[in-house]
Amino acid sequence: MAIKVLKNEVINKIAAGEVVERASSVVKELVENSLDAGATQITVEIAGGGLALISVTDNGSGIPVDEIELAFNRHATSKISAFEDLEVSHSLGFRGEALPSIASVSDVEIISFNINDSSGVYAELEKGAVVKKQKQARSQGTTIAVKNLFRNVPARLKFIKSKTTENSHIANVVSQYALAFPEVRFTLLIDGRESLKTPGTGNLIDSINSVYGTEIASNMLPVTGNQGFNASEKNIVISGMVASPRISRANRNYISLFVNRRWVSNRNLVWAVEEAYHGLLMTGKHPVAVINIEVPLADVDANVHPTKTEVRFKNEGDVYMAAQRAVRQALVNTAPVPKVEEIAASYRGQSQIIVPPEQRRMDMKIVSEEEVGTPVVASLPVLRVLGQSMNSYIVAEGPDGIYIIDQHAAHERVMFEKISKQKQQQGVEIQGLLEPVSIEVLPVQDEVLNKNYQLLAEFGFTIEPFGNRTYIVRTVPSIMYKRDWQAALNELIDKLSMKDRANITEHIIATMACHSAVRFGQSLTLDEMRELVRQMEQADLPHACPHGRTTMIHIPQKQLEKEFGRT
Ligand code: ADP
Ligand code: MG
Repeated sequence: MAIKVLKNEVINKIAAGEVVERASSVVKELVENSLDAGATQITVEIAGGGLALISVTDNGSGIPVDEIELAFNRHATSKISAFEDLEVSHSLGFRGEALPSIASVSDVEIISFNINDSSGVYAELEKGAVVKKQKQARSQGTTIAVKNLFRNVPARLKFIKSKTTENSHIANVVSQYALAFPEVRFTLLIDGRESLKTPGTGNLIDSINSVYGTEIASNMLPVTGNQGFNASEKNIVISGMVASPRISRANRNYISLFVNRRWVSNRNLVWAVEEAYHGLLMTGKHPVAVINIEVPLADVDANVHPTKTEVRFKNEGDVYMAAQRAVRQALVNTAPVPKVEEIAASYRGQSQIIVPPEQRRMDMKIVSEEEVGTPVVASLPVLRVLGQSMNSYIVAEGPDGIYIIDQHAAHERVMFEKISKQKQQQGVEIQGLLEPVSIEVLPVQDEVLNKNYQLLAEFGFTIEPFGNRTYIVRTVPSIMYKRDWQAALNELIDKLSMKDRANITEHIIATMACHSAVRFGQSLTLDEMRELVRQMEQADLPHACPHGRTTMIHIPQKQLEKEFGRT
């Protein structure tokens, strides 16, 4: 074949491979265009995972009638005219590639009205070329509808996973921009259902509330827009919000980073943010953070890749340091280091409860102090924590040999006693939910809960029947507030359906203890282990969990000596 210049149609389709990787890339490009057009209201509507329809409507500047064709031309942009403009232009787009790329792999319809025109315009594009154009009225702004995405790129279609996956990618893109632009009202409709709506108040916390819900929103701490800490960082301004260490997530998807309000992915920056949480989060847990980094345009290069999600900084190290310090400051200013479970002050120094030995098990009756019985087995000696094994066992040393402690069983015991004492004394400590949570129970559970919800109130769960198997939960036990109390409640309902209700109180408390205890397999810091062991030392019955299982194994010095033939 002789060398020849490719036709525009082919060039665009090839370029589309980079810019339009999947449906969510189209959403990203269109939303960025709307933001660049100064829109204060953006509605994204999708159907069929974005493959059938992606429509973005804004109230931005609109495109002039006679520039419609141009907008879909490759390298046609209204945002820059010289390369140097990149250092002064705040726009998200500048490469003039998105519209032609999108139009080359889909069917596009556009309606736009620019205020300087006498009328709005409607146009249809096929294979990237305008095939129909006419006047059409609309208010100022633009609607672009992308249909049949990738129909002419079967290879790409093959890589598209399920519609659910595509939907969640799209929801993520819109969520990220909603977080970056709290002053814009975003609406996302997926197959006709409203999946996201932000109020556009300009307050980040309102966007966070819409995107992540009240539980996260109520635990966010402001990262104040403080300047860098030393001279070289002085042009770097970090702002946003980060979650208190009480809230954490199992993956890094809740860390949103923006550079000059451009959504970026940058591993080192993520790492910098996570470093700020050092010692505050359990291993394997990740923070929630929404952070914008404002740097002079001349100090950052977004022109690394067509999608512009990668950026390069002139002074990388300074940016990371500034981000890390700002986040750390937000955390240490307001959040105390969380302990495994801080022991209620009232719990300490209490006189020992006397329990007959035969009751030191799951079916243990809670006895009042007046009752006579054998004093509790000697409590634990003071132990020195040596470390953790298999993320499950705490290895400690005592005056007479080695102790191996099952962390879950041990903590369960501590929590069991704590709840029991609360129940006997001032009552189980409750925590009101920020917003009542409605739960729907299974038909088999409905009857049980209806009969027992008043009993559960004694344990901190304030629940009201709401009809149709629905119940409203208003408060939960404080110890479960940050835990998966819904799972605990579910288990409690099942416990309550048991025929034999003789020891129902103990069963309820044991279930609550189990759900508020540290997990088997959860890595603990030395401080957390020390705290747990300290609580164990003070427990009345440290040797067995509420289910009667052993919490610890003691290998006395004598036995060690015997095993090693040292006697
Ligand atoms: P870029 O954003 O890099 O300029 P695009 O291909 O995304 O390139 O868009 C081309 C041009 O079309 C933009 O520069 C802008 O002038 C115009 N445009 C695209 N979308 C909109 C919109 N929603 N509102 C107003 N103008 C738009
Ligand atoms: Mg663009």
